[in-house]
Amino acid sequence: MASRPHAVHVRAPGKINVYLGVGRRHDDGYHALATVFQAVSLYEDVHAEPATGFSLEVDGDVDVSGVPLDDRNLAMRAAKLLAQSADIDSGVHLRIRKGVPVAGGMGGGSADAAAALVACDALWGTELGSHRLHALAARLGADVPFALHGGTAIGVGRGDELTPALARGRFDWVLVLSEQGLSTPEVYGRLDVIRSHGEAVADDPPPSLDVPSAVLHALRTGDAHELAPVMMNDLEAPAVLDRPDLELALVDGVRFGALTGIVSGSGPTLAFLCPGPDAARAVQDALRSTGRDALHVHGPVPGARIIG
Ligand code: ATP
Repeated sequence: MASRPHAVHVRAPGKINVYLGVGRRHDDGYHALATVFQAVSLYEDVHAEPATGFSLEVDGDVDVSGVPLDDRNLAMRAAKLLAQSADIDSGVHLRIRKGVPVAGGMGGGSADAAAALVACDALWGTELGSHRLHALAARLGADVPFALHGGTAIGVGRGDELTPALARGRFDWVLVLSEQGLSTPEVYGRLDVIRSHGEAVADDPPPSLDVPSAVLHALRTGDAHELAPVMMNDLEAPAVLDRPDLELALVDGVRFGALTGIVSGSGPTLAFLCPGPDAARAVQDALRSTGRDALHVHGPVPGARIIG
């Protein structure tokens, strides 16, 4: 075992789904997905310190009142799962500083779980390696492996079977954050209802559940103009159904200079793809002048990693 540090600081990114195709719902409640994740420069910071038991505190730049502090917290579950699988009888105190909006469709809880795995692995000197950490991450939630991995990646299965996607250069995004979160299971449930009212039966998968090659090509070229028209999210319709304000914001962002706007994951965060940093700053400022909480970020950025 390596020598044990006194405290570990890990930073993990939030994500947006550049493409999110949703297919059949399986018996375990999960839907089949074909998605492209991109990690963006909005971060969760997790500090881990040695302790006798397991404890947690949370603060941050976003409203953290909806974050559970007990075993429902994904970071707490990650620490306990790692301790159990590596046969560790030490505890940990986790201090989480959240920069990713809670229940915003950006995988903030998953980022905390990935950060907690990396932090505890270093703190306890378990040195599990990326393969075993990935396996533990997948047990914690479908988005957790990507938060470990970062960058740009294709996710299939529940979104946890990852293949890195080649992405050149940097993409500039403007996020519009909402005060009110959306429940991921409810958004998926609404999608099933919408589909059952249409021609398809709720359990019918769409004809093809692959990420279109045009999306992968646009990422490879690093050309935002090429990526914008092929971005898509099957969860957009059910997310905006109860939130007409999102639809208005999507129109405004494009009017202010974004190439396109999309609901991030299950929403309600919106992600606007911009032609470059200057355009993104202008879109951010214009959206802010309408009273919206807008933030310029970029991607791809690395996954959970130790700082300092
Ligand atoms: P999902 O990953 O389910 O798509 P999301 O990205 O929309 O979710 P998160 O902020 O990750 O949103 O969390 C959704 C819910 O998970 C929260 O409302 C909260 O009850 C619970 N939760 C558990 N652990 C955490 C955590 N560490 N941070 C935030 N929420 C957490």
